[in-house]
Parts: sequence; C-alpha cells; structure tokens
Amino acid sequence: MNRIYNFNAGPSTLPLPVLEQAQAEFVDYQGRGMSLLEMSHRSPEYDRVHTRCIELLREMLALPANYQVLLLGGGATMQFGMVPLNLLGQGRSCDFTLTGAWAKKALADARKLGKVRMVYDGSEHDFMRLPDPGALDLDPKAAYLHLTSNETIGGVQWQSWPDPGPVPMVCDMSSDILSRPLPIERFGLIYAGAQKNLGPAGLALVIIRDDVLAACVDDLPAYLRYPVHAQKGSLYNTPPVYAIYLTQLVLEWLHQQGGVAAADQLAQQRSGLLYDAIDQSTGFYSCPVSADCRSRMNIVFRLPSEELEQSFISEAQAQGMGGLKGHRSVGGCRASIYNAMPLAGATALADFMRHFAASHG
Ligand SMILES: *Cc1c(COP(=O)(O)O)cnc(C)c1O
Repeated sequence: MNRIYNFNAGPSTLPLPVLEQAQAEFVDYQGRGMSLLEMSHRSPEYDRVHTRCIELLREMLALPANYQVLLLGGGATMQFGMVPLNLLGQGRSCDFTLTGAWAKKALADARKLGKVRMVYDGSEHDFMRLPDPGALDLDPKAAYLHLTSNETIGGVQWQSWPDPGPVPMVCDMSSDILSRPLPIERFGLIYAGAQKNLGPAGLALVIIRDDVLAACVDDLPAYLRYPVHAQKGSLYNTPPVYAIYLTQLVLEWLHQQGGVAAADQLAQQRSGLLYDAIDQSTGFYSCPVSADCRSRMNIVFRLPSEELEQSFISEAQAQGMGGLKGHRSVGGCRASIYNAMPLAGATALADFMRHFAASHG
C-alpha cells in the first residue's frame, strides 16, 4: 500500500488509524455478526457511537450546558437554507459578511428567505482581505450576524471575532472547526460540513445555543426544524450512521492527539512551513491573500505562469503529494492542510517547493 500526502480541499485526508479501524470493524462490528451499516440506529451499539461522538464534540469544543449538538444530513449547504428558515422570522433581517465563495452561497440562500444587510463586501478586494471585526456596522436588531470563519477556496480566515452583543453570531466553520480555541459564548450557532476536519461528506455538525433554539420559526417541515432534532438528540429519523461512526473515530483520534490545543499548535506549524516556503522564494511563489488573514487550513499560492503551475502539480503528484490544484473558479495552487495532515506532509511539500523553485526559477 502506498498512501500519498493528500492535500485535497474536501473530501480530504483522514487519519490512517481511523481508516484502518473502520476497515477492521467493517464486516463484523465488535463481534455482533454484522456491520454497523446493517444495525438499527436504535441499537445499543449504535447508541454508544452516537453518544460518544456528541460527548467528544462537547468536550473538545468546551461547550457550556446551554449549547446543543446536532448531527444532520445534507452537509453545510443544507445549513445555508436551514439557518435562515429557522432564524429569519417574518419581516426580520440578518447581517452578512461577504468574504468569498462560500459566504456568497450562504448569502444567496438567505436572500431567498428574508432581508439581508451586507455589512462587509470583500468583492472590492477580490476576497483577499477580511474586515476589522470591531469596525463592522452591525444592526442591533438583526436576527443574526453570519460569518464564514475560513474561506476554503480563497484562503482567508478570520483571526479574531466580531462581538455583536445580544445578536446571535452564526458561523460556517466547515473548514476550520476544531483547529483552534473559540470564545464559544459569542456564537449563537455554528455549523460545519464534516468532510474537512471531522469525517466523511454528507454529515453536518450544528451547535446551537438554547436561546437561539427557543426563537426558531415553528411552521416548517419536521426535518428542517432545529428544535425537532434537539428534542430527539439527532435521532428524529435515521441519522447518517456510518458518517457519524467515522466522525466518532476521527474525534477519538484527535482527542488522543491532545484535542484542540494540539490541533492549534500543529496548524500553526504546518501553515508556517508553507508560508515560509512562499515568502522565502523571492517572488517565485506568491500568496495573494493579505498577510493578516492568511488561512492556516487552505494555503493558496501562484507560480510565475500557468505552465509552471501545471508542472508543479504533476511533479508533486509524481512525488506522492496530491490535490494541489487550486479551485477551478480561481486557478493557481492550493494546499489544504486540515487536522489529519501530519506535520511530515507539510515538511515534504515545503521541501518540494524549495527544490522546484531552485530548478525552475
Ligand atoms: C466545503 C464547504 C461548504 C460546503 O459543504 P458541503 O458539505 O459540500 O455542503 C460550505 N462552507 C465551507 C466553508 C466549506 O468549506
């Protein structure tokens, strides 16, 4: 077996011990004569997985008792619609920060469901900057303020948070959840698709504060209502059991690695190695993102020409480093280095970048 360093943006690399454990347990789960895939979601075996997954999330995110954890289908994109459906009651308005491609999608869905005020429009700067969180002109009566903590495509990441006071702050943390400590009490709702830092695609994590839950719109179909999932412990219907099982294994692994504190330190080291390789290349590599908001998860960079970018990507692939092509909408190169990327992967890529620049510069 020859596993590569996988820099894909999502779905993305998973810890090898997790894949191996899932493989070992796949056909016969813990001696029960069947796969977990074949079991009832009401069975004690599945219940342990489900409960443990939520418990690990609560512990590693240091969630106070007034926050609920929901495990839902539909990925982060479903949340682009569910958030305004639940929180934008009749005649209400929300504040949005337009920081890149993902915020744009979330904003487009919110606009279909209610009034949206744009409090920051990054398109003027090609989405290469973020605003000063203290300088946003926020509506004190807004139903919520929406942020995207890390723009996976553009490579910008909020380094500090606005404080909208009593207005619930809603944040899409799909691509940096569990990679740094958070002032959790400032957030009313956090959501994240699982396939970057948590597990397989299709699953979304939603963390919601009790006061936000209590204010949800109630005349929606059952699956679309946060309170229904909260009351039933995310077992209102059949949950995405296998995605939750893999997520539980990933969380168990992260916990053993030292949780968020260790992930935070590693993210600093990995991204430091790559940004150093860019900055020290005397212009061979360039990162378009403003230095004060560079992402620690998605490192975007350009080479002097598209031809060089293509040879960079294919030579890296030949040396066991994949997924370095930038998003099709922006081109260039992108290295996605989520929690499961070992430090050795970032070291190998930084070394390769130096060699490539030396031989092609
Ligand atoms: C990947 C991603 C999404 C979309 O997630 P899906 O699970 O595919 O719906 C949304 N927001 C951000 C920031 C992402 O990185």
